[in-house]
Amino acid sequence: MATQPESVITVCCSDIAGQVRGKGFPAVDLDRRRRFGVGWTPTNVMINCFGRIPATPFGAEGDLMLVPQPGGDIRLPYDDGTPAEHVILGDITSMAGEPWDCCLRSLLKRALAALEKEAGLRLLASFEHEFWYEGGEERPGDSYAASSLRGMEGFIGAFLAALRANDIAPDTFLPEYGPKQYEITIDPADGLIAADQAVKLREICRSLAQRHGSHVSFSPVVTPGIVGNGVHIHFSLTDLAGNPVGYEPGQPGGMSALCASFCAGILRHARALCAITAPAVISYERLKPHSWSAYYANLADRDREALLRICPYPELPGVDVARRYNIEYRGADATASPYLQLAMLVFAGLAGIRDGLPAPFISSGDPGRWSDAERTERGIADLPRSLGEALDALEADSIATGWLGPVLTKAYLMHKRGEIEMAGDHGLQELCALYARAY
Ligand code: GLU
Ligand code: MG
Repeated sequence: MATQPESVITVCCSDIAGQVRGKGFPAVDLDRRRRFGVGWTPTNVMINCFGRIPATPFGAEGDLMLVPQPGGDIRLPYDDGTPAEHVILGDITSMAGEPWDCCLRSLLKRALAALEKEAGLRLLASFEHEFWYEGGEERPGDSYAASSLRGMEGFIGAFLAALRANDIAPDTFLPEYGPKQYEITIDPADGLIAADQAVKLREICRSLAQRHGSHVSFSPVVTPGIVGNGVHIHFSLTDLAGNPVGYEPGQPGGMSALCASFCAGILRHARALCAITAPAVISYERLKPHSWSAYYANLADRDREALLRICPYPELPGVDVARRYNIEYRGADATASPYLQLAMLVFAGLAGIRDGLPAPFISSGDPGRWSDAERTERGIADLPRSLGEALDALEADSIATGWLGPVLTKAYLMHKRGEIEMAGDHGLQELCALYARAY
């Protein structure tokens, strides 16, 4: 008997390991599942990127619901007769429907709601991704070269079309500097949507690459010693009516006092933030001096080695600069959950506004040429040089752990310290290969 293939929908969360995990159900049950979701287990958040649970504060106990959310759909219909791939991003709740302490998507909602309520502000964001495409052609001298796109038109075309079909507007697709390295940028969107889109983009990219017989990796360092894959988080502030409020001509860097305080908040907590935004052992192989990533907690105007970079805009007549003005956080990579990354940036920025922090020093040139004392004088801290150091900085920053709350703080530190311990069994080359497969 010939039967129609049945579709499965998977409801997923993006977790501490930056992995997209969940459970599936027959598509015909979607209405019911929208209400009750699928069962989820607290200890799942402790599964690290190596697929292990070195330790867990939750044990084998407890039950949660992972509930599909409106706008969370990733739909990838394939024209080979197989059922479409359908994932829906969800929130993790208690059995009574309350957000769970370790639901990272709910944390971002809380951060954005606080920004709105306390400061009357909204955040627009866009996650810019670099990645390595296994099937790319490698030729000496092919950085940014047209030749490095050759032969992968099928993948690129399908990838861009799938993004658009999932309401993600591609902005640029380019061959990057590194071998087999590519970059995709997309249009900005409201905070929660932007983070949803970052999760979706990675999954769509992975799925399409697989369908084209290849494999992609967003890992921060695929090959040790070669330029890394960054995630640059662009953001701008608007009032509740959507009017941009970050730009003020005549001010240093064109930055309004509000935006300056927001940035100062991020810089004040930068060392703790790194534990969240660059949370893999090998993230610190990317955050090296002169790597076009970030090495100090500094703000600079159009400098690709600053943690916070004031991005360029066309200085042509008729350009609405205020709408284009945005800041880029460069100390992030794709081993983290975009929800958690953005939530922490928002909490830190909001704290800067709340405390009325003065505008940060806008550095120009390499802060490494200054002595420690000179950097301190300019308010520029060193970023952590390892994940262990970053986690210690997070643990020591009681304001930052306050944003996470005690349950998530404990789970996060335990999860990540377990990962460091496991990573210690491997040499750098082997470790990069493992992370490359995981991300
Ligand atoms: N690959 C660099 C990074 O790790 C970024 C290069 C660029 O400015 O696009 O962040
Ligand atoms: Mg780039």
